[in-house]
Amino acid sequence: MLMACKGDQVERYLLPTVKGDKICAMAITEPGAGSDAASISTRAHLDGDEWVLNGTKHFISDGDIADYVILMALTDKDKRARGGITLFLVDRGTPGFKVARTQPMMGHRGYGHAELSFEDCRIPKAAVLGEVGAGFKLIMQSVLQIRLAHIGARAVGMAQRALEMMRRHAGERRQFGQLIGEFQMVQKLIADSATEIFGVKMMVMNAAWDIDQGRDARDKVSMIKVAASEMQGRVVDRAIQVFGGMGFSKDLPLERMYRDARVTRIYDGTSEIHRMLVARSTIKNGLQL
Ligand SMILES: Cc1cc2nc3c(=O)[nH]c(=O)nc-3n(C[C@H](O)[C@H](O)[C@H](O)COP(=O)(O)OP(=O)(O)OC[C@H]3O[C@@H](n4cnc5c(N)ncnc54)[C@H](O)[C@@H]3O)c2cc1C
Repeated sequence: MLMACKGDQVERYLLPTVKGDKICAMAITEPGAGSDAASISTRAHLDGDEWVLNGTKHFISDGDIADYVILMALTDKDKRARGGITLFLVDRGTPGFKVARTQPMMGHRGYGHAELSFEDCRIPKAAVLGEVGAGFKLIMQSVLQIRLAHIGARAVGMAQRALEMMRRHAGERRQFGQLIGEFQMVQKLIADSATEIFGVKMMVMNAAWDIDQGRDARDKVSMIKVAASEMQGRVVDRAIQVFGGMGFSKDLPLERMYRDARVTRIYDGTSEIHRMLVARSTIKNGLQL
């Protein structure tokens, strides 16, 4: 998304963020607008040479520590997703912009989540990211790669780690005088996990190839969002089962992985929303692979 930076935005935001010198948060969701992101109520209006921002965002990852946020706001309430939504670059410390509260989560505790408030927050006219009115389109274009890497590839990585843990344990732990990996019911947990990981990995690689070739991969990425997030949850759950009580204890990372996996069915579009998109497209066009 930062590829839309222009002029001095490149030096101020794009380059330091890529280098890791600045942290960016993406502020789209609001208490009243989640899955239906176009129904946001955060407004931006021009007053002379400045935009004036008013509204509240919540669940913003890294919102508590970000140096700046990419804020999605309404610039034309009648047009909304069709030209009425704009992205803004808003620096931490701008008067009127504050972290209202942190929002502790069940998982992903390695970073914070926050509610952000904007009250008559004034930013320069040049703080628009991309073009005025083009914000919704820009978000939708960018989330494709984010979903593929952040949900798809990462789910494969976490699931592979869980599989490797259960594989080793099945080959070491003995009960009833046997390795537990010799019990068919434990073998099923491993076989099902390996099979599902393979399936999602191939899906991710196939969609990445399509994107590299410039093809429209939106439907595939929605399928991957559903398949990867749900696969990851099932595989980590099976790993906990293979480890028995140890799997449930905090001595192993599996309980953390279980909590972290859960949210992937919710953010970046819930499973229900992506199923809806896949169904609509499949009913209209048939399955395009
Ligand atoms: C850990 C975490 C980190 C996050 N980070 C960010 C961030 O950095 N930036 C940001 O902007 N947001 C962030 N979010 C917000 C996240 O994107 C939203 O939570 C998500 O889009 C769902 O919106 P919602 O919570 O309002 O749920 P809702 O939209 O209220 O959905 C509630 C339920 O209704 C279902 N539903 C809604 N509409 C339909 C429909 N049309 N058909 C069928 N079912 C439907 C949903 O699938 C869900 O089951 C984060 C959330 C979490 C939990």
